[in-house]
Amino acid sequence: MVIFDTLSGEKKELPTGREIKMFVCGPTVYDYPHIGNARTFVFFDMFAKYLRSTGIKLTYLQNITDIDDKIIQKAKDEGTSWREVSKKYEEIYRANLEALGMDTQHMQFARATDYVPEIIAQVKHLHENGFSYLIEGDGWYFDISKYAGYGELAHRTVQQAEDGVTRIDDSSKKKNAGDFCLWKLSDDPTLQLGDDGLGAGRPGWHIEDTAITEKFFGPQYDIHGGAIDLKFPHHEAERAQQEAASGKLPFVNFWMHAGFLTIDGKKMSKSLGNFMTVDDLLTKMTPDEFRMMLLMHHYRSPLDYTEQAVKMAKDSIHYFMVRVQNLKNQAASNENEKEFEEAMNDDFNTPRALATLRSCTDPAVIAKNLASLGINITVNIPPDVQVLLQKRELSRASKQFEQSDALRKEIEGLGYIVEDTPVGPLVLPKN
Ligand code: AMP
Repeated sequence: MVIFDTLSGEKKELPTGREIKMFVCGPTVYDYPHIGNARTFVFFDMFAKYLRSTGIKLTYLQNITDIDDKIIQKAKDEGTSWREVSKKYEEIYRANLEALGMDTQHMQFARATDYVPEIIAQVKHLHENGFSYLIEGDGWYFDISKYAGYGELAHRTVQQAEDGVTRIDDSSKKKNAGDFCLWKLSDDPTLQLGDDGLGAGRPGWHIEDTAITEKFFGPQYDIHGGAIDLKFPHHEAERAQQEAASGKLPFVNFWMHAGFLTIDGKKMSKSLGNFMTVDDLLTKMTPDEFRMMLLMHHYRSPLDYTEQAVKMAKDSIHYFMVRVQNLKNQAASNENEKEFEEAMNDDFNTPRALATLRSCTDPAVIAKNLASLGINITVNIPPDVQVLLQKRELSRASKQFEQSDALRKEIEGLGYIVEDTPVGPLVLPKN
């Protein structure tokens, strides 16, 4: 199996025969998750499901950023505390994960504020190694000029690295414009999460991820993921931090970045009025249809959410349902199975993998392979409904339409609807 790695710019072989460790940046819980966030998280959920379906043992860890400038600002706007804000939106995030069938992350999610001792230890370690400095009354900063590889991940020059601004690093006293905050000092008692010689304060944005992964995975592991917007400065900063703290290279073997989702060609934003939450989405399409829409595009490509993309995904789910219910059991050729695997093993080429399933004639293979991506198209039809269906097919074949209509009504009474398609009836649960 080969996976594209952003740092080397190449597809590389995923090691086999041992456990794979993956960390994916989780949400900053200050607002309702939108469908762009969902694209990234559904992709990594599919990735985990598919890997595990092939027998690979994968540990998938995700954090939750529950303290940060945006959360603090939201608390001010809502006249509440940052803890209330992060608690509320974490619950909404979890409910959305469940609604979208994402269940592959290991353990409880790692909240930044639950790992303050680990964060402080890493900040101190970076200072001991000579990579940071203190701006009095402000915070501890990482000095990017001390880390030779800064900018390599995002393929940026030193000059470009200098223009990076992160969420909490605007200080005129920084040594380099791109230096980022590791530990933010605060006079506000509600923002004093620790001290231990650094001064009372709270973590910077980037440090939580490396402190958490170092605790669970050690200084080096296999895969680090997120969407493409995180490549710079967030992932660049993480790489610098962890390699500077441990002296061990490389921090990770694969940097995986999912493409951005836009709506009708535009970046999603509240001011443009095109911000779509996961809750909004679920009034328009089912979780399986949404997943299908995502997987009909390659994960690294940008994806534009349009009415047409929604319709194509719905049609595709419909197509596979009809085929699975109506294809008579013909064993698939091994060729079909192999083509699906080859497409998936080539950096998760899901558009090609789905195309191979369209020509597959074995309903069991179609359903199994879609399930390995997290798409469920099988309808459990109870035996009494099946008997009525068969009777209905016989009456239709002998053109006894009154009888077939009566049987349709009887089936509806049992909670199922029947849709006649050119290749046979499709049965769906009502609603
Ligand atoms: P945030 O809560 O802003 O930290 O974002 C959570 C995750 O969603 C991160 O991996 C982001 O990179 C990703 N993300 C944010 N916006 C989009 C988008 N429009 N399309 C795809 N992924 C996104």
